[in-house]
Amino acid sequence: MTLTERDGNSIWHPYTQQLKSSAPIPIIRAGGCYLYDENERRIIDAVSSWWVTLHGHSHPYIVERVSAQLKKLDQVIFAGFTHEPAIELAENLLAILPNNQQKVFYSDNGSTAVEVALKMCLQYWFNKGVPRKKVLAFRNGYHGDTFGAMSVSGRSAWTAPFDSLLFEVIFIDTPNPENLPALKTLISSHATDLACFVYEPLVQGSAGMLMYGAAELNELLEHCNQEAVLMIQDEVFTGFGRTGRNFAADHLTVKPDLMCFSKGLTGGTMPLGVTTCTAKIYEAFLSDDKLKTLFHGHSFTANPLSCTAALASLELLLQEETQEKINRICSRHQEFAALIATHPRVKDVRQTGTILAIEWQTESGTSYFSDLRNQLYDYFLEKGILMRPLGNVIYILPPYCISDQDLAEIYAQIRAALEIF
Ligand SMILES: *Cc1c(COP(=O)(O)O)cnc(C)c1O
Repeated sequence: MTLTERDGNSIWHPYTQQLKSSAPIPIIRAGGCYLYDENERRIIDAVSSWWVTLHGHSHPYIVERVSAQLKKLDQVIFAGFTHEPAIELAENLLAILPNNQQKVFYSDNGSTAVEVALKMCLQYWFNKGVPRKKVLAFRNGYHGDTFGAMSVSGRSAWTAPFDSLLFEVIFIDTPNPENLPALKTLISSHATDLACFVYEPLVQGSAGMLMYGAAELNELLEHCNQEAVLMIQDEVFTGFGRTGRNFAADHLTVKPDLMCFSKGLTGGTMPLGVTTCTAKIYEAFLSDDKLKTLFHGHSFTANPLSCTAALASLELLLQEETQEKINRICSRHQEFAALIATHPRVKDVRQTGTILAIEWQTESGTSYFSDLRNQLYDYFLEKGILMRPLGNVIYILPPYCISDQDLAEIYAQIRAALEIF
């Protein structure tokens, strides 16, 4: 039996209609920005394997560090015990985050990082004896697939089967100069009920790489601050260089109360989630009253191997060489965007740092389930490029190690596709 046949017999894949989808492609190995299938066919990973891979696959330095750690300490319960990789990672992360972030809470993926942040905010008010219980979020937001994270995500085809079970959230549009006054009024009218505001800063990834301005977000956050609404900045996707700077926070002046990280945190090698918070949040849980404890944890909290991968990845990220690679991708994207902006098939082209998104002009409008999406996916794969369009939006967010030559190949295939679809 082939790997594909054995897969079909036993595996249920994520975000996949198992009845209709074409068989998954077995990948045997990976290196740099390439994936290799059973026949040694090379595929350029233009989406960083679901937005996680930062420095390239199986990066030798990360491999070396994780292997050494595996021989030393694989895993240890993180209640009552601690270890150096977790401590050092917390120190190194806090050193480059907005300086109001004071404590690190570990979990193991982006959804759990958001769950933890939500529970910290809701319990913050509970511990203070203030009845603020509602959450504010963006209409098109995406924060993960567990129930709390789903609740604060926009309602969509993905959440439809569960909508009646999701907790109530006040949804607002992303800010622009026109709607800002109305958004502020709305926030003020709910302020005494609002525990927190959770948002994807600058780029709403899953919604189709929708982008909005840092100045407007700043103004909105300033208002949340004034109304004592706690701010949860979900940088699960935008963190670690994607926006051209280390964090989306580096484009903003208002500092959030809590931040969430995952995806690129380990350079995309291992699962790990981080929620950080201010001293104000942390101190609201310090008490002789046991009820004020944060009763949350996961079996693999702060796994030493994941923490080590994150330490190695962070070290690579901060090297000047990597920062230059990031800047180079930003410039190339910019040049290409200008080149295709007026193409009749291009409805919109937008960029934030290393993230470039192109919205296709279609007769049928936008749908995650559009035929165009599947046609484009198949087309690029046929050309040896992994793209995963969100409806009629294709996007490139490559590992930072991508060469100019491979970027040029991706751009050339996009231009060719613009003439076909
Ligand atoms: C992917 C993502 C999540 C969820 O992370 P998982 O590790 O897939 O659970 C949360 N927030 C944002 C902004 C994301 O892009």
